Amino acid sequence: MKCPGCANDMVQVEVQSIEIDRCPACGGIVLDKGETDAIEVLGLSHVIEGGVAVGAASGEPRTTSARCHACDRDMIALRGAGDIEYDWCDGCERLFFDRGELTALGAFVDA
Ligand SMILES: [Zn+2]
Ligand SMILES: [Zn+2]
Repeated sequence: MKCPGCANDMVQVEVQSIEIDRCPACGGIVLDKGETDAIEVLGLSHVIEGGVAVGAASGEPRTTSARCHACDRDMIALRGAGDIEYDWCDGCERLFFDRGELTALGAFVDA
């Protein structure tokens, strides 16, 4: 899988006994649709459920879109609880978190 943020190849890493895809270049994290265990362990469910489109919330769409290389389309920037921003692909329903976004949650700590 290629990173939605920088198009590098992602690697599988284990975080708190679950496997997720992580970009070694930019530190972004991708969660596939159905990785509900990962979402739960990382404490992301309340963030994801509260997500609203960034453009609608702030009037300022972010300058660079993450891109889903599997679907070959731009992902949709959303902002969830705690002002955490993430990107969602409406094709395959993958979620992409930039490095700083997960660090802000306190759920992901670098090895
Ligand atoms: Zn990357
Ligand atoms: Zn996709």
